[in-house]
Amino acid sequence: MFDVCVIGAGPAGSMLALRLAQLGHTVALVEKVRFPRPHVGESLTAGVLPLLEVVGLRREFEQAGFVAAPWATVRWAGEIRKRETHGGYQVDRGRFDALLLEAARRAGAAVHQPARLLDWRFDREQWQLRLDSGDCVQARYLADAAGRNSRMLGGSKTPLGPPMLATFAYWRNADPGNGETLVEAGPSRWYWGAPLPDSTFVACVFTTPGRTAYQALIGQSELLSPRFAGAALCGEIRSCDATPYVDTTPVTDRWIKVGDAALTLDPLSSQGTQMALGTALHAAAVIHTMFDRPADTALALDFYQRRVADSAEFHAQVARAFYREQEEPDSAPPPLSPRERVRLSPGLSFVRIPTVAGAYVIGIEGIEIGGRRTAYLGPMNVAEMLRLMNGAPIVAADLVERWSHLAGPAGALQFLQSAWHWRWIEAAADLR
Ligand SMILES: Cc1cc2nc3c(=O)[nH]c(=O)nc-3n(C[C@H](O)[C@H](O)[C@H](O)COP(=O)(O)OP(=O)(O)OC[C@H]3O[C@@H](n4cnc5c(N)ncnc54)[C@H](O)[C@@H]3O)c2cc1C
Repeated sequence: MFDVCVIGAGPAGSMLALRLAQLGHTVALVEKVRFPRPHVGESLTAGVLPLLEVVGLRREFEQAGFVAAPWATVRWAGEIRKRETHGGYQVDRGRFDALLLEAARRAGAAVHQPARLLDWRFDREQWQLRLDSGDCVQARYLADAAGRNSRMLGGSKTPLGPPMLATFAYWRNADPGNGETLVEAGPSRWYWGAPLPDSTFVACVFTTPGRTAYQALIGQSELLSPRFAGAALCGEIRSCDATPYVDTTPVTDRWIKVGDAALTLDPLSSQGTQMALGTALHAAAVIHTMFDRPADTALALDFYQRRVADSAEFHAQVARAFYREQEEPDSAPPPLSPRERVRLSPGLSFVRIPTVAGAYVIGIEGIEIGGRRTAYLGPMNVAEMLRLMNGAPIVAADLVERWSHLAGPAGALQFLQSAWHWRWIEAAADLR
């Protein structure tokens, strides 16, 4: 019998199997199709690199011949802006996903491929899983990493935005430009395009379902259509649902959902793969904690449940703000002035919350405000930073200086704007 059986070997499933095997657990990994297989979602954010580093795959990824994409060109709210990606990549998802799967296999995961899960039941403290390859797998714990359409463990998928349809195709002989990702807003739709490592170009239009005249819509894109003079479609035009969802019950003491099966982001963020890898690392810490420190099971489950819900809310808010900017270009709130006097928001409290430290979920001091709990902002410990305010009003520029000792000047500035944005601090106008 295996400790864990993971269904689906996309980025989430392979990362989870790999990390669990590295932590000493026996893992079966079940994937229904042969690899390499095509998969849309080729623009990766720089945030995948530290996640790959955790499992020792960063070097292999950097040497795999994927294309560095340091810039994105974004046409939004009537302006064309060049945005630094701080280390993004365009990848071939067939090869990227296979790289992760092979790493899981090398670490000791027993891979069943091609093998589709046919039925499953929990009986006498173990899962009995029947595969269409004829194999039967027994496991103590089950992970659903079967992607956005998975419904194997039931539960309710709550939409995080209006229904969205993605229609995409690959082009040959398109102008790759400088290798940058292209993102563009149009009336009731938006576009994403990227040159890929095999010299093809993926171009996708996101619309409300029912509006799918793909080539006519691509022709109306200011950024994409000039790239396709003299280019030809290679392969068919495909459509899929791209509505963002969150699962309201992503974990129990018998099973866990990871990647798109737990939380599907608005593709506007280009962070779906990063999120899939991140949830997998968190899920591995949750499972490792439950197996190795059973007394902390409730802490671990609470961590994962909240983490998925908080990530969903955060990404939905960011996406809403981005769409609002397109509809009402002047709606962005002004950043905090360094001369403003600020204080801790009265609704904020310091609480003990679960977080991942290394291989385990542990309890540490964090903050809670408006029902939302936070422990870290990047590498910065939020409670530690806010405690430096000593509860007294302070000029923002002086606060940045105080925080710089812990986070460096750039980190302190970023922390200030985030603390303002999330209302951890507020203007102390009455005390000026
Ligand atoms: C149009 C579009 C564009 C996108 N663009 C980007 C982008 O630019 N950048 C980005 O980071 N993300 C993007 N995404 C999102 C990204 O592709 C996903 O978030 C990511 O693939 C999620 O990984 P996953 O492992 O959870 O699921 P998946 O990658 O979907 O993997 C699930 C795996 O499970 C297998 N499986 C399913 N059912 C079974 C079963 N019963 N038995 C066995 N195996 C099974 C499948 O074959 C598959 O290999 C985009 C998404 C869409 C729809």
